[in-house]
Amino acid sequence: MIKVCKFGGTSMADGNMMKRVASIIKSDDSRRYVVVSAPGKRFGGDVKITDLLYACYESVKETGSCGDAFAKIADRFRGIVAELGLKMAIEDVLDDTRRAIERERSADFTASRGEYLSARVMAALLGFEFIDARDVVKFRADGQLDSELTFDLTAQALKGKKYAVVSGFYGEGADGRIKTFSRGGSDISGAIVARAAMADLYENWTDVSGFLACDPRIVENPVGIRAMSYKELRELSYMGANVLHSESIFPVRAANIPIQIKNTFRPTDEGTMILPISKYTYSGRIVTGIAGKKNFAVIFIEKSLMNAEIGFARKVLSAMEKHGVSFEHMPSGIDTMSFVIDSESLKHGILEELLEDIRKAVNPDNLRVFDDIALIATVGHGMSKNVGTSAKLFDAIARAGINVRMIDQGSSELNIIVGVDNDNCERAIRAIYEEFFKKSEATFGL
Ligand code: ADP
Ligand code: ASP
Ligand code: MG
Repeated sequence: MIKVCKFGGTSMADGNMMKRVASIIKSDDSRRYVVVSAPGKRFGGDVKITDLLYACYESVKETGSCGDAFAKIADRFRGIVAELGLKMAIEDVLDDTRRAIERERSADFTASRGEYLSARVMAALLGFEFIDARDVVKFRADGQLDSELTFDLTAQALKGKKYAVVSGFYGEGADGRIKTFSRGGSDISGAIVARAAMADLYENWTDVSGFLACDPRIVENPVGIRAMSYKELRELSYMGANVLHSESIFPVRAANIPIQIKNTFRPTDEGTMILPISKYTYSGRIVTGIAGKKNFAVIFIEKSLMNAEIGFARKVLSAMEKHGVSFEHMPSGIDTMSFVIDSESLKHGILEELLEDIRKAVNPDNLRVFDDIALIATVGHGMSKNVGTSAKLFDAIARAGINVRMIDQGSSELNIIVGVDNDNCERAIRAIYEEFFKKSEATFGL
């Protein structure tokens, strides 16, 4: 039995937490390979090491030196090593790190040092070997993970090592320089190690007792999800349930390795199992979870008989391709077509140029943009098994007095997406939660 365990920022926040992590690992000798994040927040209002490092990079960019910005980082690691009573030449390691940050002058390199340092400390604490992600996680020239090479190199590095600690969040780009994943990316690193080790289980340790039906910062004490499928996870995490990075299923999915979300503060809680559909048994719930993400724009195109105009969609898509804009959803009707796009990618005048090109390409009767839209995904395999789910969902939103700006129901019936104004995002999530969890609990006793 091989388990790969990834511990997130809160689990690594200080020496005390690291001791807790060590005791979790040592309590089960199948917990052989460990992936760690940089120390996160110790209390509300605290700053994550990764954020301190990004601030440090700003200073290097402007002045060529870390200045005072590195002092806080160094203090945190000094404190951790002292708290743990480790005999580690931490001053030398910190000095080398600061000099390397000034030499490299790269945001990715700087940000990666949080994981590098915390993995070295954790390896020393556990007495495990340290594997630098730079040597095993490789990106291609287009910036995408080179999965095959990465799995091979990681498997080779693990070979013959009973135990090891691997740094999360980063790897090496095709140019030989350090490159990070997007924020929260240590979850992907954990999945890579699980895949390379052909682990029986990928344990992802965080600060909540599993995946909850929605963000606990939006709904107080939401219901926990016992089990969900890879597909449900992908939909929910992509739409903002950031308990697990949305790309972390790819390395494990092909090998059918289950993911278990566990709570470092309550290690005996069951948490959530994320499973291939073949191993997933229907829970009886209509909805598995709800997630929301803000700041989208919807480009709405209307033209009579667009359905009969050959190449209409291609022309619009070519205009988008020309401006490097990708879209998230494309709900359409007989004479209408909408594109839901991340607002960030339309900044700096791109939106105006894109609209102009769409006008030229297809001469629409009506071309409008709705901005500041939040997308809310209601996800669950149970929705296809229950008649009237969308009616209930829209009724709940209407009763809360919220205007729906867009609807997209995937053909898989796994998921219904509604667009509402950014300001209504949290209220809509609460309304949907009330409808499917509070009510169904009362009715079905689930
Ligand atoms: P880590 O540092 O361990 O990687 P994250 O902060 O990335 O942890 O993810 C855990 C956090 O995700 C929780 O503390 C919670 O606030 C947030 N979260 C958002 N949506 C959900 C959800 N549906 N279920 C559980 N937690 C969620
Ligand atoms: N430390 C990185 C971040 O804060 C990566 C991670 O924790 O997964 O985003
Ligand atoms: Mg995370």
